[in-house]
Amino acid sequence: MTAEFEPVPAHGEPPRGAPSAPTPARLAGVEAGVVDRLHAFESDLEAQLSLCGRRREEVHVIVVTKYHTPELAEVLYAAGQRDFGENTLQGLHAKLEAGGSALESARWHFIGQLQRKKAGQVARLAWAIHSIDRTELVDRIDRVELDHAVDAFVQVSLDGQPDRGGVLIEQMDALVERVLASPHLRLKGLMAVAPLGADADPAFERLQELSARIRRVAPEADSISAGMSGDWQAALRHGATHLRIGTAITGKPVSAR
Ligand SMILES: *Cc1c(COP(=O)(O)O)cnc(C)c1O
Repeated sequence: MTAEFEPVPAHGEPPRGAPSAPTPARLAGVEAGVVDRLHAFESDLEAQLSLCGRRREEVHVIVVTKYHTPELAEVLYAAGQRDFGENTLQGLHAKLEAGGSALESARWHFIGQLQRKKAGQVARLAWAIHSIDRTELVDRIDRVELDHAVDAFVQVSLDGQPDRGGVLIEQMDALVERVLASPHLRLKGLMAVAPLGADADPAFERLQELSARIRRVAPEADSISAGMSGDWQAALRHGATHLRIGTAITGKPVSAR
């Protein structure tokens, strides 16, 4: 089952990009605006960070490429982007196996709801998993052979509706303990998505309080994965360290235009 995909090399710092290198011909079809949007997002981010009195080094921008081609991710990689997000095993695999691409050296973050039977394969391919929301996922990951530790975020449900993913707050501490006991996972912190149709600010404020709570038992687990295209400014105000940005940088998926 798990032999279906080749394990990726152990983690190391991805090589720096060469933004001045000529674009390979097969990338010519990617919409040129994507690199402009990456740069525009970076300058919006700088502005918001200075409003919050925070530094750029505190924040990781993960570009979510889930509705887009490997070529689009490659263009962003060539522009220097190193962290990317996918929400399915299939999507992750498609990006990694895209022929002759540099994408194997990128850091891939798994951000989607994770099925137990796919957890081991995702752990082999991903740099980080942001959606650990039940102990059976950890049990499954601990049973596979890995040549690298995987960064892990415990996803919490801020609206108490776990069908959107996330552990109920009452069960968070027990799951945190389970991740801390895993030989394969390295607990980075908490992840959440803002409740639908509600103000993101109080939700992310609550997440920041929960983060302070887990740091009493796991002081290194100080990362907060929060903020998408529509609410990243609120997330930054409440301590987010990992922004998961899709459409603001990639553009809308072709089917939704
Ligand atoms: C798709 C997705 C994102 C990015 O969403 P945008 O609104 O396109 O920025 C972030 N986080 C999760 C969990 C997602 O599924």
